[in-house]
Amino acid sequence: MNRPTAAQISANRRAQSIGSIRLDSRGELPGSRRRSEVPAEFRSVEQAPAAPTRYLDAPVRPSTPLPVAQVPATDAQVNFLRTLVRDRAISDEAREHAEQRIARWDAWVTRGRIGDFGLSKSVASAAISKCKEHPFRSQTAPVAPAVSEQPRREVPSPEQLPAGRYAIENAEGELRFYHVWRGTERPTFVKLYVEHGPDSSEVPFKSALSILARLAADPATAARRYGAEIGSCSVCSRRLTNRLSRLLSIGPVCGGRFYVEDDWSAIKESGRERLRAAGLDPKGEVDESDNFDYSADLDI
Ligand SMILES: [Zn+2]
Repeated sequence: MNRPTAAQISANRRAQSIGSIRLDSRGELPGSRRRSEVPAEFRSVEQAPAAPTRYLDAPVRPSTPLPVAQVPATDAQVNFLRTLVRDRAISDEAREHAEQRIARWDAWVTRGRIGDFGLSKSVASAAISKCKEHPFRSQTAPVAPAVSEQPRREVPSPEQLPAGRYAIENAEGELRFYHVWRGTERPTFVKLYVEHGPDSSEVPFKSALSILARLAADPATAARRYGAEIGSCSVCSRRLTNRLSRLLSIGPVCGGRFYVEDDWSAIKESGRERLRAAGLDPKGEVDESDNFDYSADLDI
């Protein structure tokens, strides 16, 4: 058997993986663009991954800590970068490039954080600094139509979808329980959790966008569905022990967040009438002796 040539050894070495990261023949992260393909605004940002090449030339010691360029971006970094990319007046080219990198990072999260993470900590950090140099996009400026084939999905505003808990059926008709979390200082920062029993897990951003859009299409029904199934208010989590609250499947105050005032007043009045017709005081607590079917009628 022939001994491998120096060139073969060098080629093999480049194809070797470092930790869980496999580099391509350029000694870069797979799918990463060549410098010349990178928009000017991000070019300085792209210089960060130069480290892996030098790293490859050094003797490989598994215990050596990975260079910063090979540490994946953190969840907080990526979420912040998302809002910056959305809100700041960066070029369309830079935005598209950033979105592609974020999409690769999202895919990595969806895969269980294995393999190519697409966006390193240092690149994310540099991109965040770059974006912050740009002013906010003007609210009045016409928004250019999205270039991608799929319509760009936005995170619903707090008015469109308040923080809280919701129940909605998935495509297979199975009921799912979700928790929409919003930042206290920055309510536009959203996380979506799917609840299973006492536990919950965060939904990856891409899937979360489509679920958030479905919830925002009819948040009142999804919030009341949650209350009907769980017996607690979807907004404040208090037990629905009051008769009117139990019938409406949401607290009388919290329910007001999902309706215009007159509609919500009419709904509450119709609920009270129903309870009175059954000889029950709407202000009273639900009792075993109530001869009344509280099961959800979300059309009230
Ligand atoms: Zn409530």
